[in-house]
Amino acid sequence: MPNFSLNDQVFFDAAQAFETPFHLYTEEGIRQTARGLIRAFSGVPVFREYFAVKALPNPSILRILKEEGCGVDCASQTELMLAEALGFTGEDIMFSANDVPPHEFEYARKLNAFINLDDITHVDVLAKHGGIPDEICLRFNPGGEFRIGNAIMGMPGDAKYGMTRPQLTEALFKLKAYGARRFGLHSFLSSNTTDQGYYPALAKMLFEIGRELMDETGMQLSFINLSGGIGIPYLPDAPKADIDAIGAGVAEAYHEVFTKNGIEGVAIKTELGRYMTGPNGWLVTHITNEKNTHKHYWGLDASACDLMRPAMYGAYHHITVPGKEHLPHTDMADVTGSLCENNDKFAIDRMLPPCEIGDVLVIHDTGAHGLSMGYNYNGKMRCGEVLLKEDGTFKLIRRAEKPMDYFATLDVDPVWEKLNNM
Ligand SMILES: *Cc1c(COP(=O)(O)O)cnc(C)c1O
Repeated sequence: MPNFSLNDQVFFDAAQAFETPFHLYTEEGIRQTARGLIRAFSGVPVFREYFAVKALPNPSILRILKEEGCGVDCASQTELMLAEALGFTGEDIMFSANDVPPHEFEYARKLNAFINLDDITHVDVLAKHGGIPDEICLRFNPGGEFRIGNAIMGMPGDAKYGMTRPQLTEALFKLKAYGARRFGLHSFLSSNTTDQGYYPALAKMLFEIGRELMDETGMQLSFINLSGGIGIPYLPDAPKADIDAIGAGVAEAYHEVFTKNGIEGVAIKTELGRYMTGPNGWLVTHITNEKNTHKHYWGLDASACDLMRPAMYGAYHHITVPGKEHLPHTDMADVTGSLCENNDKFAIDRMLPPCEIGDVLVIHDTGAHGLSMGYNYNGKMRCGEVLLKEDGTFKLIRRAEKPMDYFATLDVDPVWEKLNNM
């Protein structure tokens, strides 16, 4: 994947054209990432990426990915609605939800989406709500620790997702009795990993279990869904995922388990979110306040409501100050938002160049699980989204929220009229 970076002038221009804060996304970067992924998986007979909508649920972005041949991975009614409205149907949609409200199965069936069953009890629920399709996917949870060599890649035993190995067999027999004939297999065992061994190891495990299940049930294995999880380097010197090596590793496992044993026609699907759009987005902000107490603080016009990852996970997001990056980074500061929550800090003890109020400040890698995780604590409005198009122009693709968006659900209260007129 090309290391997509924008030059400082683009951030200055965007910050001039739109009120900060906003997330800025690059169309070119997203298209290149999608093409690179598809190229990397050209060693398997049939491949398709289903973009995890939750990572960046903006129609303009989903349209771009659709043009690049991607489908969508949805986990809720509203994500399905977005998919339907954009013309994704049938095999363009993977419905990988858990703790599913039954009516959402009905909706997914109406769209003829692939349904990825998270739990064995959902076989009967789906039979009642929408009906069992010809082809269905099961989500596997192997339990325990997921290791590659000595490295612990994830803790599936603690994860709420998926079925046990015996439940896969049992679920398939039930599904077969209901009339299903073909199945896919899915698992998500490691999040945000750049380790090139993850997908090939996961693939090999699912390929082998898929083979076993075919033998046990007599049903046809039609696809393996490797889900999401390929990571991005949030730290500037962290390694990137070698997507070509990952694709080649999956192809090797494919030939080992399938081709050599005369098994044909098993498609490979992925549901990547972070890898596709994460590095292709930036939160563009201004410094609005400076504070010197026991520590030095730069306050921004953005808050955790626009980007929750640092507050929620202590996640690192790189920060740059356009026009000042060549200066020595001698100022140590916390970079904060305005919430009445001490975790509303985009960075703690970060070394920055000398800054001042009014400077544009850019938070990197916000293109996935950024605005979509946002919230409205303290009555803060979530910011808007801007697309840098391939022709170099900007387009507002989601406006910032206004107070009336926040008050909209109070239309059940007499005060709503008054708020509406303020
Ligand atoms: C979140 C999620 C994804 C995407 O994960 P990334 O880490 O963004 O790649 C894919 N599939 C399912 C079922 C998920 O819950």
